[in-house]
Amino acid sequence: MGAATTTTRAPVLILLGPPGAGKGTQARMLAEAFGLVQLSTGDMLREAVAKGTEAGRAAKSVMEAGELVSDEIVLAILRDRLDAPDTGRGVILDGFPRTEAQAEALDDLLAARDGRVDAVIALEVEDDAMVARISGRYTCANCGEGYHDTNKVPAVAGVCDKCGGTEFDRRADDNASTVAARLAAYHDQTAPLIAYYDRRGVIQRVDAMQDIGAVATALNRIVESARR
Ligand code: ADP
Ligand code: ADP
Ligand code: ZN
Repeated sequence: MGAATTTTRAPVLILLGPPGAGKGTQARMLAEAFGLVQLSTGDMLREAVAKGTEAGRAAKSVMEAGELVSDEIVLAILRDRLDAPDTGRGVILDGFPRTEAQAEALDDLLAARDGRVDAVIALEVEDDAMVARISGRYTCANCGEGYHDTNKVPAVAGVCDKCGGTEFDRRADDNASTVAARLAAYHDQTAPLIAYYDRRGVIQRVDAMQDIGAVATALNRIVESARR
């Protein structure tokens, strides 16, 4: 082991916010800046769909309709991922929890591992911004870096800044027709988690209508203080 005798427990951070708020964009940057592991249940589910696993087959049509996948499926996927050794560095949860049952299950999972939720960052955006953010979103097919048709374009058109890849993907659910369902799911089932975590004094609200760099600055400050 290292020389330090004081144990600083690896932080557990949550990024909470509606679809298109910037959770994935910010989680990637925080993971890189602080050496944390980004855990995106959306990415895990898309991987399960692509592989055609049992969970993936059950989740596919639910995701395409913009509804929430069952707690049972999501929790099974997350539990397995949390048990991988790299999560000992600390994690940033992106898109999980999304229901109160998931939040309670997370508390139990962490307690069993001597952990707890250190900070929950609520990314606040106006509903009207969502359609533009979601319909302009695309990612590098090779490394997963996220882009936007107008808000975040690669330095060289058609070439990923991070890896030089030239192929990009758009998500099947990123279209105007799913936005209403996804926003409804957020307001009905996920937004109540802000009050849930507020009662524990771990909520930090960030204005996510600001540009990507300004949001990142605010988040860096929060993570710096959560690590102390
Ligand atoms: P977004 O980036 O738009 O917030 P995600 O990539 O996080 O979307 O999730 C995409 C879809 O995957 C969601 O619309 C939902 O169907 C499903 N999903 C992801 N995470 C969860 C979760 N924690 N609970 C239930 N469903 C989830
Ligand atoms: P989420 O994971 O919350 O669904 P993303 O991080 O994928 O959101 O961001 C959605 C889209 O909006 C992406 O195309 C991204 O490049 C863009 N985006 C992210 N943050 C901002 C921001 N602060 N201002 C403008 N566009 C943003
Ligand atoms: Zn790339």
